[in-house]
Amino acid sequence: MGAPHDVVIIGAGFGGIGMAITLRRAGVRDVLVLERGDALGGTWRDNTYPGAACDIPSHLYSFSFAPKTDWSRRFPGQREILDYLNDCAREHGVLPGIRFGTEVSGARFDADAAVWRVETSAGEVAARVLISACGQLNRPVLPEIDGRDSFAGEAFHTARWDHGVDLRGKRVAVVGTGASAIQVIPAVAGRVERLDVYQRSAPYVIEKADRGYRLWEKDALSGFRGLHTLSRAKTYAFYEARAVGFLGESRLMKLMERRFERRLAEQVPDPELRRRLVPDYPMGCKRILISDDYYPALNRPNVDLVTDPIERITPTGIVARDGVERPVDVIVYATGFAASDFLAPMRIVGRDGRELSEEWRGGADAHLGITVNGFPNLFLLYGPYTNLGHNSIIYMLESQFRYVLGCVRALREKDLAWIEVRPDVQADFSRVMQERLRGTVWASGCASWYMTGDGRIVNNWPGFTFAYRWATRRPDPRHFTVRRAA
Ligand SMILES: Cc1cc2nc3c(=O)[nH]c(=O)nc-3n(C[C@H](O)[C@H](O)[C@H](O)COP(=O)(O)OP(=O)(O)OC[C@H]3O[C@@H](n4cnc5c(N)ncnc54)[C@H](O)[C@@H]3O)c2cc1C
Repeated sequence: MGAPHDVVIIGAGFGGIGMAITLRRAGVRDVLVLERGDALGGTWRDNTYPGAACDIPSHLYSFSFAPKTDWSRRFPGQREILDYLNDCAREHGVLPGIRFGTEVSGARFDADAAVWRVETSAGEVAARVLISACGQLNRPVLPEIDGRDSFAGEAFHTARWDHGVDLRGKRVAVVGTGASAIQVIPAVAGRVERLDVYQRSAPYVIEKADRGYRLWEKDALSGFRGLHTLSRAKTYAFYEARAVGFLGESRLMKLMERRFERRLAEQVPDPELRRRLVPDYPMGCKRILISDDYYPALNRPNVDLVTDPIERITPTGIVARDGVERPVDVIVYATGFAASDFLAPMRIVGRDGRELSEEWRGGADAHLGITVNGFPNLFLLYGPYTNLGHNSIIYMLESQFRYVLGCVRALREKDLAWIEVRPDVQADFSRVMQERLRGTVWASGCASWYMTGDGRIVNNWPGFTFAYRWATRRPDPRHFTVRRAA
Protein backbone atom coordinates (compact mmCIF):
# COMPACT_ATOMS: atom_id res chain seq x y z
CA MET A 1 0.00 0.00 0.00
CA GLY A 2 1.43 3.38 -1.04
CA ALA A 3 0.99 6.81 0.49
CA PRO A 4 -2.62 7.78 1.10
CA HIS A 5 -4.46 9.46 -1.76
CA ASP A 6 -6.09 12.78 -1.00
CA VAL A 7 -9.41 11.41 -2.20
CA VAL A 8 -10.64 7.96 -3.19
CA ILE A 9 -14.03 7.71 -4.91
CA ILE A 10 -15.91 4.41 -5.17
CA GLY A 11 -17.86 4.17 -8.43
CA ALA A 12 -17.55 5.75 -11.88
CA GLY A 13 -21.14 6.63 -12.78
CA PHE A 14 -22.49 10.17 -13.04
CA GLY A 15 -21.73 10.63 -9.32
CA GLY A 16 -18.11 9.45 -9.31
CA ILE A 17 -17.19 11.10 -12.61
CA GLY A 18 -18.86 14.41 -11.74
CA MET A 19 -17.18 14.44 -8.31
CA ALA A 20 -13.75 13.69 -9.81
CA ILE A 21 -14.20 16.52 -12.32
CA THR A 22 -15.34 18.94 -9.61
CA LEU A 23 -12.31 18.14 -7.46
CA ARG A 24 -9.93 18.43 -10.39
CA ARG A 25 -11.36 21.77 -11.42
CA ALA A 26 -10.83 22.94 -7.83
CA GLY A 27 -7.16 21.90 -7.94
CA VAL A 28 -7.44 18.62 -6.00
CA ARG A 29 -5.29 16.40 -8.21
CA ASP A 30 -4.63 13.26 -6.21
CA VAL A 31 -8.00 11.61 -6.79
CA LEU A 32 -8.37 7.89 -7.42
CA VAL A 33 -11.65 6.42 -8.69
CA LEU A 34 -12.22 2.71 -8.04
CA GLU A 35 -14.73 1.08 -10.37
CA ARG A 36 -15.68 -2.58 -10.26
CA GLY A 37 -16.83 -2.60 -13.90
CA ASP A 38 -14.52 -2.52 -16.88
CA ALA A 39 -15.95 0.76 -18.15
CA LEU A 40 -17.43 3.91 -16.68
CA GLY A 41 -21.10 4.87 -16.80
CA GLY A 42 -22.84 3.00 -13.95
CA THR A 43 -26.57 2.98 -14.76
CA TRP A 44 -25.87 3.84 -18.40
CA ARG A 45 -23.21 1.17 -18.82
CA ASP A 46 -25.38 -1.56 -17.26
CA ASN A 47 -28.82 -0.83 -18.72
CA THR A 48 -28.44 -1.68 -22.40
CA TYR A 49 -31.87 -3.27 -22.80
CA PRO A 50 -33.86 -2.36 -25.94
CA GLY A 51 -35.59 0.97 -25.45
CA ALA A 52 -33.39 2.10 -22.50
CA ALA A 53 -33.58 5.88 -22.22
CA CYS A 54 -33.77 8.60 -19.59
CA ASP A 55 -37.09 10.01 -18.43
CA ILE A 56 -35.84 13.51 -17.63
CA PRO A 57 -34.89 15.56 -20.72
CA SER A 58 -31.15 15.36 -21.22
CA HIS A 59 -30.63 19.10 -21.39
CA LEU A 60 -31.37 18.79 -17.68
CA TYR A 61 -30.14 15.22 -17.15
CA SER A 62 -26.53 16.32 -17.77
CA PHE A 63 -23.92 18.35 -15.90
CA SER A 64 -24.43 22.13 -15.77
CA PHE A 65 -20.66 22.51 -16.15
CA ALA A 66 -20.56 20.37 -19.29
CA PRO A 67 -23.49 21.48 -21.45
CA LYS A 68 -24.19 19.49 -24.61
CA THR A 69 -26.20 21.38 -27.18
CA ASP A 70 -26.64 18.67 -29.81
CA TRP A 71 -28.67 16.00 -28.00
CA SER A 72 -30.46 14.07 -30.72
CA ARG A 73 -33.81 14.11 -28.91
CA ARG A 74 -35.53 15.20 -25.68
CA PHE A 75 -35.11 11.81 -24.03
CA PRO A 76 -32.04 10.27 -25.64
CA GLY A 77 -31.23 6.59 -25.46
CA GLN A 78 -28.72 4.85 -23.21
CA ARG A 79 -25.87 4.94 -25.77
CA GLU A 80 -25.99 8.71 -26.23
CA ILE A 81 -26.02 9.35 -22.48
CA LEU A 82 -23.13 6.93 -21.98
CA ASP A 83 -21.15 8.62 -24.78
CA TYR A 84 -21.80 11.99 -23.12
CA LEU A 85 -20.42 10.77 -19.79
CA ASN A 86 -17.36 9.26 -21.50
CA ASP A 87 -16.78 12.57 -23.32
CA CYS A 88 -17.04 14.48 -20.03
CA ALA A 89 -14.50 12.19 -18.35
CA ARG A 90 -12.07 12.47 -21.27
CA GLU A 91 -12.41 16.20 -21.84
CA HIS A 92 -11.98 16.99 -18.13
CA GLY A 93 -8.93 14.75 -17.82
CA VAL A 94 -10.22 12.34 -15.19
CA LEU A 95 -9.91 9.08 -17.20
CA PRO A 96 -6.32 8.32 -16.10
CA GLY A 97 -7.44 8.50 -12.46
CA ILE A 98 -9.93 5.62 -12.80
CA ARG A 99 -8.89 2.10 -11.84
CA PHE A 100 -11.32 -0.24 -13.59
CA GLY A 101 -12.04 -3.84 -12.61
CA THR A 102 -11.43 -2.93 -8.96
CA GLU A 103 -14.23 -3.78 -6.57
CA VAL A 104 -14.25 -2.32 -3.08
CA SER A 105 -15.26 -4.90 -0.50
CA GLY A 106 -14.88 -2.71 2.56
CA ALA A 107 -13.14 0.20 4.26
CA ARG A 108 -11.91 0.79 7.80
CA PHE A 109 -11.13 4.16 9.36
CA ASP A 110 -7.67 4.19 10.93
CA ALA A 111 -8.00 6.98 13.49
CA ASP A 112 -4.29 7.02 14.42
CA ALA A 113 -3.23 7.70 10.85
CA ALA A 114 -6.47 9.59 10.02
CA VAL A 115 -6.92 7.59 6.83
CA TRP A 116 -9.44 5.19 5.37
CA ARG A 117 -7.95 1.79 4.59
CA VAL A 118 -9.91 0.64 1.58
CA GLU A 119 -10.00 -3.07 0.75
CA THR A 120 -10.27 -3.77 -2.94
CA SER A 121 -10.10 -6.80 -5.21
CA ALA A 122 -6.61 -5.55 -6.15
CA GLY A 123 -5.29 -4.98 -2.61
CA GLU A 124 -5.52 -2.16 -0.11
CA VAL A 125 -5.40 1.56 -0.84
CA ALA A 126 -5.39 4.39 1.68
CA ALA A 127 -7.37 7.61 1.44
CA ARG A 128 -7.62 10.76 3.53
CA VAL A 129 -11.12 11.28 2.20
CA LEU A 130 -13.38 8.48 1.03
CA ILE A 131 -16.37 9.24 -1.20
CA SER A 132 -18.95 6.61 -2.01
CA ALA A 133 -20.56 7.12 -5.43
CA CYS A 134 -22.14 3.66 -5.66
CA GLY A 135 -25.60 4.80 -6.71
CA GLN A 136 -28.95 3.46 -5.53
CA LEU A 137 -29.92 1.43 -8.59
CA ASN A 138 -27.20 -0.99 -9.63
CA ARG A 139 -27.72 -4.19 -7.65
CA PRO A 140 -30.37 -6.04 -9.68
CA VAL A 141 -32.96 -8.01 -7.74
CA LEU A 142 -34.44 -11.27 -9.01
CA PRO A 143 -37.81 -12.26 -7.51
CA GLU A 144 -38.06 -15.21 -5.13
CA ILE A 145 -40.28 -17.49 -7.20
CA ASP A 146 -40.52 -21.24 -6.78
CA GLY A 147 -38.68 -23.08 -9.53
CA ARG A 148 -36.93 -19.97 -10.89
CA ASP A 149 -33.64 -21.79 -11.30
CA SER A 150 -35.31 -24.79 -12.96
CA PHE A 151 -36.17 -22.76 -16.08
CA ALA A 152 -34.43 -24.36 -19.05
CA GLY A 153 -34.68 -21.39 -21.46
CA GLU A 154 -32.83 -18.09 -21.37
CA ALA A 155 -33.46 -15.76 -18.43
CA PHE A 156 -31.86 -12.45 -17.50
CA HIS A 157 -32.46 -9.15 -15.68
CA THR A 158 -33.02 -5.97 -17.73
CA ALA A 159 -29.81 -4.51 -16.27
CA ARG A 160 -27.87 -7.59 -17.46
CA TRP A 161 -29.41 -7.86 -20.93
CA ASP A 162 -28.07 -10.83 -22.86
CA HIS A 163 -27.54 -9.46 -26.37
CA GLY A 164 -26.57 -12.95 -27.55
CA VAL A 165 -30.22 -14.03 -27.30
CA ASP A 166 -32.21 -13.31 -30.45
CA LEU A 167 -35.81 -12.63 -29.46
CA ARG A 168 -37.19 -12.82 -33.01
CA GLY A 169 -39.99 -15.37 -33.22
CA LYS A 170 -39.60 -16.36 -29.54
CA ARG A 171 -42.17 -16.63 -26.77
CA VAL A 172 -41.04 -14.09 -24.20
CA ALA A 173 -42.22 -13.23 -20.68
CA VAL A 174 -41.47 -9.88 -19.05
CA VAL A 175 -41.83 -10.04 -15.28
CA GLY A 176 -42.63 -6.61 -13.84
CA THR A 177 -44.19 -3.39 -15.14
CA GLY A 178 -41.89 -0.73 -13.69
CA ALA A 179 -39.71 1.91 -15.34
CA SER A 180 -37.50 -0.52 -17.30
CA ALA A 181 -40.37 -2.84 -18.30
CA ILE A 182 -42.41 -0.08 -19.90
CA GLN A 183 -39.40 0.77 -22.09
CA VAL A 184 -38.54 -2.84 -23.00
CA ILE A 185 -42.09 -4.00 -23.81
CA PRO A 186 -42.80 -1.64 -26.75
CA ALA A 187 -39.24 -2.10 -28.01
CA VAL A 188 -39.55 -5.90 -28.35
CA ALA A 189 -43.31 -6.51 -28.79
CA GLY A 190 -43.14 -6.22 -32.60
CA ARG A 191 -40.43 -8.80 -33.09
CA VAL A 192 -41.36 -11.61 -30.70
CA GLU A 193 -43.94 -14.28 -31.44
CA ARG A 194 -45.70 -13.90 -28.06
CA LEU A 195 -45.16 -11.56 -25.17
CA ASP A 196 -46.61 -12.26 -21.72
CA VAL A 197 -46.39 -9.27 -19.39
CA TYR A 198 -46.62 -10.21 -15.70
CA GLN A 199 -47.97 -7.29 -13.71
CA ARG A 200 -48.07 -7.25 -9.92
CA SER A 201 -49.20 -3.68 -9.59
CA ALA A 202 -50.29 -1.36 -12.42
CA PRO A 203 -48.14 1.75 -12.90
CA TYR A 204 -49.36 5.22 -13.83
CA VAL A 205 -47.94 5.78 -17.32
CA ILE A 206 -48.35 9.31 -18.64
CA GLU A 207 -47.40 11.08 -21.85
CA LYS A 208 -43.69 11.29 -22.72
CA ALA A 209 -43.88 13.74 -25.62
CA ASP A 210 -40.49 12.67 -26.88
CA ARG A 211 -39.23 14.04 -30.16
CA GLY A 212 -36.04 14.53 -32.14
CA TYR A 213 -34.41 17.97 -32.13
CA ARG A 214 -34.32 19.74 -35.47
CA LEU A 215 -31.05 20.94 -36.90
CA TRP A 216 -31.96 24.60 -36.44
CA GLU A 217 -32.74 23.97 -32.76
CA LYS A 218 -29.32 22.43 -32.19
CA ASP A 219 -27.67 25.29 -34.12
CA ALA A 220 -29.53 27.87 -32.07
CA LEU A 221 -28.61 26.19 -28.79
CA SER A 222 -24.93 25.94 -29.68
CA GLY A 223 -24.83 29.45 -31.21
CA PHE A 224 -26.38 31.21 -28.24
CA ARG A 225 -25.18 29.94 -24.88
CA GLY A 226 -27.87 31.96 -23.10
CA LEU A 227 -30.55 30.10 -25.01
CA HIS A 228 -29.29 26.77 -23.70
CA THR A 229 -29.28 28.07 -20.13
CA LEU A 230 -32.78 29.44 -20.60
CA SER A 231 -34.10 26.20 -22.06
CA ARG A 232 -32.54 24.22 -19.19
CA ALA A 233 -34.07 26.59 -16.63
CA LYS A 234 -37.50 26.22 -18.26
CA THR A 235 -37.28 22.42 -18.15
CA TYR A 236 -36.08 22.56 -14.53
CA ALA A 237 -39.00 24.81 -13.51
CA PHE A 238 -41.51 22.57 -15.31
CA TYR A 239 -40.30 19.42 -13.53
CA GLU A 240 -39.79 21.14 -10.19
CA ALA A 241 -43.41 22.32 -10.18
CA ARG A 242 -44.47 18.67 -9.98
CA ALA A 243 -42.91 18.44 -6.50
CA VAL A 244 -45.99 20.22 -5.17
CA GLY A 245 -48.05 17.11 -5.89
CA PHE A 246 -45.58 14.74 -4.28
CA LEU A 247 -45.28 16.83 -1.14
CA GLY A 248 -48.90 16.48 -0.14
CA GLU A 249 -50.94 18.73 -2.46
CA SER A 250 -53.36 15.99 -3.44
CA ARG A 251 -55.47 18.25 -5.73
CA LEU A 252 -52.64 18.41 -8.26
CA MET A 253 -52.28 14.62 -8.23
CA LYS A 254 -56.06 14.20 -8.61
CA LEU A 255 -55.93 16.46 -11.65
CA MET A 256 -53.11 14.38 -13.10
CA GLU A 257 -55.01 11.17 -12.27
CA ARG A 258 -58.02 12.35 -14.27
CA ARG A 259 -55.77 13.22 -17.21
CA PHE A 260 -54.20 9.76 -16.92
CA GLU A 261 -57.64 8.09 -17.02
CA ARG A 262 -58.68 10.08 -20.12
CA ARG A 263 -55.49 9.10 -21.92
CA LEU A 264 -55.83 5.45 -20.91
CA ALA A 265 -59.37 5.42 -22.30
CA GLU A 266 -58.08 6.87 -25.58
CA GLN A 267 -55.19 4.44 -25.87
CA VAL A 268 -56.77 1.19 -24.65
CA PRO A 269 -60.14 0.47 -26.28
CA ASP A 270 -60.71 -2.91 -24.54
CA PRO A 271 -62.54 -2.15 -21.25
CA GLU A 272 -61.36 -5.34 -19.57
CA LEU A 273 -57.70 -4.66 -20.34
CA ARG A 274 -58.19 -1.04 -19.30
CA ARG A 275 -59.67 -2.07 -15.96
CA ARG A 276 -56.55 -4.08 -15.19
CA LEU A 277 -54.32 -1.15 -16.09
CA VAL A 278 -55.79 1.23 -13.51
CA PRO A 279 -53.50 1.46 -10.47
CA ASP A 280 -55.03 0.81 -7.04
CA TYR A 281 -53.03 3.49 -5.19
CA PRO A 282 -52.83 7.30 -5.43
CA MET A 283 -50.77 8.72 -8.24
CA GLY A 284 -47.16 9.45 -7.26
CA CYS A 285 -47.00 6.85 -4.47
CA LYS A 286 -44.82 4.77 -6.79
CA ARG A 287 -42.71 6.30 -9.54
CA ILE A 288 -44.84 7.94 -12.26
CA LEU A 289 -43.71 6.55 -15.60
CA ILE A 290 -43.69 8.16 -19.02
CA SER A 291 -44.21 6.49 -22.37
CA ASP A 292 -46.05 7.11 -25.62
CA ASP A 293 -45.93 3.51 -26.83
CA TYR A 294 -46.46 1.31 -23.74
CA TYR A 295 -50.26 1.06 -23.86
CA PRO A 296 -50.35 0.70 -27.67
CA ALA A 297 -47.92 -2.24 -27.27
CA LEU A 298 -50.29 -3.92 -24.80
CA ASN A 299 -53.10 -3.68 -27.38
CA ARG A 300 -51.18 -5.89 -29.81
CA PRO A 301 -52.75 -9.30 -30.49
CA ASN A 302 -49.48 -11.10 -29.60
CA VAL A 303 -49.22 -9.41 -26.17
CA ASP A 304 -51.02 -10.67 -23.06
CA LEU A 305 -51.20 -8.88 -19.72
CA VAL A 306 -51.21 -11.41 -16.87
CA THR A 307 -52.33 -9.95 -13.55
CA ASP A 308 -52.63 -13.18 -11.57
CA PRO A 309 -49.57 -13.44 -9.33
CA ILE A 310 -46.87 -15.88 -10.47
CA GLU A 311 -47.06 -19.14 -8.51
CA ARG A 312 -44.06 -20.94 -9.93
CA ILE A 313 -41.68 -21.27 -12.82
CA THR A 314 -41.26 -24.61 -14.56
CA PRO A 315 -38.46 -25.68 -16.93
CA THR A 316 -40.65 -24.62 -19.86
CA GLY A 317 -42.89 -21.83 -18.66
CA ILE A 318 -44.61 -19.76 -16.00
CA VAL A 319 -47.63 -20.80 -13.93
CA ALA A 320 -49.74 -17.98 -12.49
CA ARG A 321 -52.45 -18.29 -9.86
CA ASP A 322 -55.02 -19.08 -12.56
CA GLY A 323 -53.22 -22.44 -12.81
CA VAL A 324 -52.41 -22.08 -16.52
CA GLU A 325 -48.85 -22.83 -17.60
CA ARG A 326 -47.80 -20.29 -20.24
CA PRO A 327 -44.89 -21.73 -22.17
CA VAL A 328 -41.97 -19.34 -22.82
CA ASP A 329 -38.51 -19.46 -24.37
CA VAL A 330 -37.09 -16.38 -22.65
CA ILE A 331 -37.83 -14.71 -19.29
CA VAL A 332 -36.86 -11.07 -18.83
CA TYR A 333 -36.83 -9.95 -15.20
CA ALA A 334 -37.70 -6.25 -15.05
CA THR A 335 -37.76 -6.49 -11.28
CA GLY A 336 -35.68 -3.54 -10.17
CA PHE A 337 -32.83 -3.08 -7.74
CA ALA A 338 -31.89 -3.39 -4.07
CA ALA A 339 -32.34 0.35 -3.71
CA SER A 340 -32.47 0.86 0.03
CA ASP A 341 -29.30 -1.15 0.78
CA PHE A 342 -27.06 1.75 -0.28
CA LEU A 343 -23.41 0.85 0.43
CA ALA A 344 -24.08 -2.88 0.85
CA PRO A 345 -22.45 -5.31 0.52
CA MET A 346 -19.33 -3.28 1.40
CA ARG A 347 -18.30 -3.52 5.03
CA ILE A 348 -17.64 0.01 6.27
CA VAL A 349 -16.09 0.33 9.72
CA GLY A 350 -15.79 3.81 11.17
CA ARG A 351 -14.29 5.36 14.28
CA ASP A 352 -14.16 3.09 17.36
CA GLY A 353 -15.05 0.03 15.28
CA ARG A 354 -18.58 1.21 14.49
CA GLU A 355 -20.09 -0.72 11.57
CA LEU A 356 -22.23 1.18 9.09
CA SER A 357 -24.51 -1.81 8.50
CA GLU A 358 -25.21 -1.91 12.28
CA GLU A 359 -25.82 1.84 12.50
CA TRP A 360 -28.23 1.52 9.59
CA ARG A 361 -30.09 -1.55 10.82
CA GLY A 362 -33.35 0.44 11.07
CA GLY A 363 -32.76 2.10 7.68
CA ALA A 364 -29.98 4.15 6.08
CA ASP A 365 -29.45 7.62 7.47
CA ALA A 366 -27.05 10.49 6.79
CA HIS A 367 -27.03 14.23 7.40
CA LEU A 368 -28.14 15.78 4.09
CA GLY A 369 -27.75 12.26 2.70
CA ILE A 370 -24.00 12.91 2.71
CA THR A 371 -22.28 12.52 6.10
CA VAL A 372 -22.69 10.03 8.94
CA ASN A 373 -21.68 10.46 12.57
CA GLY A 374 -18.95 8.00 13.55
CA PHE A 375 -17.57 7.92 9.99
CA PRO A 376 -15.14 10.84 9.67
CA ASN A 377 -14.06 12.03 6.22
CA LEU A 378 -16.56 9.68 4.57
CA PHE A 379 -19.01 11.30 2.15
CA LEU A 380 -21.89 9.72 0.30
CA LEU A 381 -23.25 10.76 -3.08
CA TYR A 382 -26.85 9.87 -4.02
CA GLY A 383 -27.16 8.58 -0.47
CA PRO A 384 -30.26 8.31 1.73
CA TYR A 385 -32.93 11.04 1.32
CA THR A 386 -31.57 12.21 -2.04
CA ASN A 387 -33.62 10.31 -4.60
CA LEU A 388 -36.39 12.17 -6.43
CA GLY A 389 -39.79 11.39 -7.89
CA HIS A 390 -39.95 14.50 -10.03
CA ASN A 391 -36.63 15.87 -11.25
CA SER A 392 -33.06 15.14 -12.32
CA ILE A 393 -30.73 13.22 -10.04
CA ILE A 394 -27.84 15.08 -11.69
CA TYR A 395 -29.08 18.30 -10.10
CA MET A 396 -28.99 16.62 -6.68
CA LEU A 397 -25.54 15.17 -7.36
CA GLU A 398 -24.19 18.61 -8.28
CA SER A 399 -25.43 19.97 -4.94
CA GLN A 400 -23.53 17.15 -3.24
CA PHE A 401 -20.35 17.79 -5.27
CA ARG A 402 -20.27 21.36 -4.03
CA TYR A 403 -20.88 20.38 -0.41
CA VAL A 404 -18.23 17.64 -0.44
CA LEU A 405 -15.76 19.96 -2.13
CA GLY A 406 -16.42 22.43 0.70
CA CYS A 407 -15.53 19.71 3.22
CA VAL A 408 -12.35 18.74 1.34
CA ARG A 409 -11.33 22.40 1.20
CA ALA A 410 -11.99 22.85 4.92
CA LEU A 411 -9.75 19.86 5.68
CA ARG A 412 -6.93 21.35 3.60
CA GLU A 413 -7.23 24.99 4.49
CA LYS A 414 -7.73 24.50 8.22
CA ASP A 415 -5.14 21.74 8.41
CA LEU A 416 -7.55 19.21 9.88
CA ALA A 417 -7.03 15.47 10.22
CA TRP A 418 -10.74 14.81 10.02
CA ILE A 419 -14.21 16.24 10.25
CA GLU A 420 -17.26 14.37 11.47
CA VAL A 421 -20.90 15.41 11.59
CA ARG A 422 -22.26 15.82 15.13
CA PRO A 423 -24.73 13.13 16.26
CA ASP A 424 -27.39 15.67 17.30
CA VAL A 425 -27.19 17.41 13.92
CA GLN A 426 -27.69 14.14 12.11
CA ALA A 427 -30.53 13.09 14.44
CA ASP A 428 -32.32 16.44 13.98
CA PHE A 429 -32.03 16.19 10.22
CA SER A 430 -33.30 12.63 10.24
CA ARG A 431 -36.28 13.55 12.44
CA VAL A 432 -37.25 16.39 10.11
CA MET A 433 -36.94 14.07 7.09
CA GLN A 434 -39.16 11.41 8.63
CA GLU A 435 -41.76 13.99 9.70
CA ARG A 436 -41.89 15.48 6.23
CA LEU A 437 -41.91 12.10 4.50
CA ARG A 438 -44.99 11.10 6.49
CA GLY A 439 -46.92 13.89 4.74
CA THR A 440 -45.85 12.96 1.22
CA VAL A 441 -47.68 10.91 -1.39
CA TRP A 442 -44.99 8.19 -1.01
CA ALA A 443 -46.46 7.41 2.43
CA SER A 444 -50.03 7.10 1.12
CA GLY A 445 -50.24 3.34 1.41
CA CYS A 446 -48.41 1.58 -1.42
CA ALA A 447 -45.25 -0.52 -1.23
CA SER A 448 -42.44 0.92 -3.33
CA TRP A 449 -38.70 0.75 -3.76
CA TYR A 450 -38.44 3.99 -1.79
CA MET A 451 -39.02 1.97 1.39
CA THR A 452 -37.11 -0.43 3.56
CA GLY A 453 -38.68 -3.83 4.27
CA ASP A 454 -40.43 -2.43 7.35
CA GLY A 455 -42.02 0.46 5.49
CA ARG A 456 -39.64 3.31 6.43
CA ILE A 457 -38.96 5.67 3.53
CA VAL A 458 -35.25 6.40 3.36
CA ASN A 459 -34.53 7.01 -0.32
CA ASN A 460 -36.37 10.21 -1.16
CA TRP A 461 -35.85 13.91 -0.63
CA PRO A 462 -39.16 15.28 0.71
CA GLY A 463 -38.85 18.79 -0.65
CA PHE A 464 -37.96 21.02 -3.55
CA THR A 465 -34.57 20.43 -5.12
CA PHE A 466 -33.68 24.13 -4.82
CA ALA A 467 -34.24 23.76 -1.05
CA TYR A 468 -31.73 20.89 -1.07
CA ARG A 469 -29.29 23.05 -3.02
CA TRP A 470 -29.70 25.79 -0.45
CA ALA A 471 -29.23 23.36 2.47
CA THR A 472 -26.03 22.03 0.88
CA ARG A 473 -24.66 25.38 -0.34
CA ARG A 474 -21.67 25.01 2.02
CA PRO A 475 -20.82 22.81 5.00
CA ASP A 476 -21.68 24.61 8.22
CA PRO A 477 -18.67 24.38 10.60
CA ARG A 478 -21.09 24.26 13.56
CA HIS A 479 -22.40 20.92 12.29
CA PHE A 480 -19.04 19.17 12.64
CA THR A 481 -16.55 18.10 15.23
CA VAL A 482 -12.99 18.31 13.97
CA ARG A 483 -9.63 16.76 14.78
CA ARG A 484 -6.61 18.95 14.09
CA ALA A 485 -3.71 17.41 12.18
CA ALA A 486 -0.87 16.33 14.49
C1 LIG B 1 -32.73 2.27 -16.14
C2 LIG B 1 -32.56 3.50 -15.33
C3 LIG B 1 -32.97 4.73 -15.82
C4 LIG B 1 -32.80 5.88 -15.06
N1 LIG B 1 -33.25 7.06 -15.57
C5 LIG B 1 -33.08 8.19 -14.86
C6 LIG B 1 -33.54 9.45 -15.38
O1 LIG B 1 -34.08 9.54 -16.45
N2 LIG B 1 -33.38 10.55 -14.61
C7 LIG B 1 -32.78 10.49 -13.39
O2 LIG B 1 -32.64 11.52 -12.73
N3 LIG B 1 -32.31 9.32 -12.89
C8 LIG B 1 -32.46 8.18 -13.59
N4 LIG B 1 -32.01 6.98 -13.07
C9 LIG B 1 -31.29 6.96 -11.78
C10 LIG B 1 -29.78 6.89 -12.05
O3 LIG B 1 -29.29 5.78 -11.36
C11 LIG B 1 -29.10 8.17 -11.59
O4 LIG B 1 -29.65 9.24 -12.33
C12 LIG B 1 -27.59 8.23 -11.81
O5 LIG B 1 -27.19 7.62 -12.99
C13 LIG B 1 -26.86 7.63 -10.63
O6 LIG B 1 -25.48 7.77 -10.83
P1 LIG B 1 -24.48 7.21 -9.71
O7 LIG B 1 -23.11 7.48 -10.22
O8 LIG B 1 -24.85 7.76 -8.40
O9 LIG B 1 -24.78 5.66 -9.63
P2 LIG B 1 -24.56 4.53 -10.74
O10 LIG B 1 -24.83 5.04 -12.10
O11 LIG B 1 -25.33 3.36 -10.28
O12 LIG B 1 -22.99 4.21 -10.66
C14 LIG B 1 -22.43 3.60 -9.54
C15 LIG B 1 -21.13 2.97 -9.96
O13 LIG B 1 -20.49 2.45 -8.79
C16 LIG B 1 -19.92 1.20 -9.10
N5 LIG B 1 -19.80 0.45 -7.84
C17 LIG B 1 -20.80 0.09 -7.00
N6 LIG B 1 -20.31 -0.59 -5.95
C18 LIG B 1 -18.97 -0.67 -6.13
C19 LIG B 1 -17.91 -1.26 -5.38
N7 LIG B 1 -18.14 -1.90 -4.23
N8 LIG B 1 -16.64 -1.14 -5.85
C20 LIG B 1 -16.38 -0.48 -7.01
N9 LIG B 1 -17.35 0.08 -7.77
C21 LIG B 1 -18.64 0.00 -7.32
C22 LIG B 1 -20.91 0.58 -10.07
O14 LIG B 1 -20.30 -0.43 -10.85
C23 LIG B 1 -21.31 1.79 -10.90
O15 LIG B 1 -20.47 1.97 -12.02
C24 LIG B 1 -32.19 5.82 -13.79
C25 LIG B 1 -31.79 4.57 -13.27
C26 LIG B 1 -31.97 3.43 -14.03
C27 LIG B 1 -31.53 2.10 -13.47
